[in-house]
Amino acid sequence: MVTHVALLSRDQIDQLPERAREVVEYRKSGLSLNHIQGCPLDCAYCIRHTYGLWDQRVPRALMSDAQAVEELVTHRYFQPHVTPVQVFNRATDPFLPVVRPHTLAVLEDLDELGLTNHVLIITRHQMKPEDIERLNQLRYLKVTLLFTYSGIENSDIEPYPSHVAAESLKLMSRPAHRRYRTVLYWRPLVPGLNDSPEHLDSAYRLAAHADATVFTGLFYRNEIADYYKANGLPEPYDDTARRKIVPETLEQRVLATFDAATPLFRKTSCAVAYAHGLPDYNGHYGIGHELCDICPLSQLELCANAHRPPSPERLREVASTLPEARGLVVVDITERAAVVSGLEIEQPRYYLQHSLGFQVHDARHPHRERRHGRADIGWKDERQDD
Ligand code: SF4
Repeated sequence: MVTHVALLSRDQIDQLPERAREVVEYRKSGLSLNHIQGCPLDCAYCIRHTYGLWDQRVPRALMSDAQAVEELVTHRYFQPHVTPVQVFNRATDPFLPVVRPHTLAVLEDLDELGLTNHVLIITRHQMKPEDIERLNQLRYLKVTLLFTYSGIENSDIEPYPSHVAAESLKLMSRPAHRRYRTVLYWRPLVPGLNDSPEHLDSAYRLAAHADATVFTGLFYRNEIADYYKANGLPEPYDDTARRKIVPETLEQRVLATFDAATPLFRKTSCAVAYAHGLPDYNGHYGIGHELCDICPLSQLELCANAHRPPSPERLREVASTLPEARGLVVVDITERAAVVSGLEIEQPRYYLQHSLGFQVHDARHPHRERRHGRADIGWKDERQDD
């Protein structure tokens, strides 16, 4: 029997925090669809803390799957075949047993429209052989399953064990012929918690199963730090020196653990693009050596060939379709990135970036470039960019 999640009433929806009511939202790796919210897995570092949704442990729907797909594809930020999409990456796990039918329904609806967009599905849950069959029937979408794996053994921080995600990754990667791709999403890497040589070695061995691996630190935002403090959890970053220095050392150890034959990336979009044999849709190639020095040569070439700084006119033309980008000013365009000002919020910047396949930075954050640097992994910072 397939059980679906309960649909919230209009009144219940009106009582949700404002950001939780935003079902389609542009986030750094793509346009994100979140009409189901709530998760019982209780990872202490969950992004739900920042949406006022931490207490919502039972998944509930804000609308039907068909309505949600309609909202997504008619959204002003959605471009057929271009916009990378993420499904249920903010407030639930897409393969919780009650959420699974919705995830597959959304994918099938999008596929029936003949859309070839990237779709990212991030999960740590158990997957099943039937999932292989269902996903292999999709004809057009470029689906990537990203398996969140940390190796953290402290069940106060991660009550749902990491080995489940490891098994799911192996299961879903096994078929010789499959239309979707798999990524080991090795995160959050936290100094002192899951960075022993044994931890690194386990992740390296697991990476052999995946089409690509991406490693990242922890988004240690204020709400999450408050939760750690209130619950007596060991705080991962307790002073500036640790934030700055230890992650860099850790990154060097991660790189030393991997060999050249196991593709490893610092950015999610790079791993996803590589797994599909395509250039990075976020245009990270412009950032250069600090990101691309670990990339396979064939991929570097793909990205190099796709790297085209836009003209100011082209940038303004793309922005002109968005009312909220009317005030856009092109400050500078270099080989590295376009720098703009006049955007009140982040979301249109991601739209521009994905439309152009080129990095678009905000002039208000002049240190943004440094965040791509190695020392920045795990910084306590609201604006870590991808
Ligand atoms: S070449 Fe650079 S931008 Fe392209 S996928 Fe590799 S790391 Fe990412």
